[in-house]
Amino acid sequence: MIMIIKQGTLPEQIEELRAEVISWGLQPQEIKGESTFMLGLVGDTSQVSEEALMRYSCVERVMKVSEPYKLAGRRFHPDDTVVEINNRKIGGGSFAVIAGPCSVESEDQILSVAHDVALSGAQFLRGGAFKPRTSPYSFQGLGLEGLELLKVAREKTGLPIVTEIMSPEYVDVFIEDVDVIQIGARNMQNFPLLTEVGRTGKPVLLKRGPSCTIDELLMAAEYILYAGESQVIVCERGIRTFETATRNTLDLSAVPVIQEKSHLPVIIDPSHGTGHSSLVPSMALAAVAAGADGLIIEVHNQPEKALCDGPQSITPIVFDHLMKQINCLREALMTEDGGLDDGNAEPFRRTA
Ligand code: PEP
Ligand code: MN
Repeated sequence: MIMIIKQGTLPEQIEELRAEVISWGLQPQEIKGESTFMLGLVGDTSQVSEEALMRYSCVERVMKVSEPYKLAGRRFHPDDTVVEINNRKIGGGSFAVIAGPCSVESEDQILSVAHDVALSGAQFLRGGAFKPRTSPYSFQGLGLEGLELLKVAREKTGLPIVTEIMSPEYVDVFIEDVDVIQIGARNMQNFPLLTEVGRTGKPVLLKRGPSCTIDELLMAAEYILYAGESQVIVCERGIRTFETATRNTLDLSAVPVIQEKSHLPVIIDPSHGTGHSSLVPSMALAAVAAGADGLIIEVHNQPEKALCDGPQSITPIVFDHLMKQINCLREALMTEDGGLDDGNAEPFRRTA
């Protein structure tokens, strides 16, 4: 629910209303429009009636919000969130590429890939230290040693590191060592993990579960935001369908859908989204054309020898060429007036 506050309302009256809302076990959230001031109610509002709110003389109107995600939704937060990490921005018109191997395998491997992707213009380095593998017999990642190697790569290249956490037990280490904490697709609905990570004060990259809807993804983001973390990036990485030609079916329409529903930056993972290195460049470019705020791409110096996800990893040479194409495409898409209005404007169009 959103209360539109009458113009000329005194700060004391708003304070009184806020205190009342808190006493009902809800969180009041300020929403400042150009000329309007609104208070959104975050929490379980099933017991709150419109009439009860209209009894306050400073309330002009009450709007019901049907989406269950209040903090992740655009209604309470009309402007795009811009996630900023070490002067690198994602969202609100800023685009960033996260690149690196699926897993950290050795010092030589991670340093070689990190140098190459940095030279090609990637803004972040990815690399799994803790790997969620389908088989217990597959390479599980180097664990803490992998984190140490990522730190060396960050030191040498200046690229902030993005890596996956699988268990709350490592939260303290991740707070210390990692720039962006990744929640993998398989853990998207691991609610205790979402809450723990949301309390760390670290930016979070949340990947969509292969069988989860966009609303479920945004509800998972809601857990992180509710726990206190506002720097959340969501990622479409392919969903499970009947199609077997690709590893997953990359749902590119998730980009505009999420941008309409939510203010959070949305990025695309064409590597897990397709499972084939030959398909990665075209889907990466399609994601840019669809308006994604960024990409996460698996790059390996020797994909044929990779311990994880080699078939979907592109080489540094292919990555370099792709980065040039991405830059050309982004430039071609830029217009001085910020785009055409087709007259079909939805109430929650993107602001940037
Ligand atoms: C990964 O990024 O390497 C990964 C395991 O991704 P996902 O969680 O999307 O499968
Ligand atoms: Mn992978």
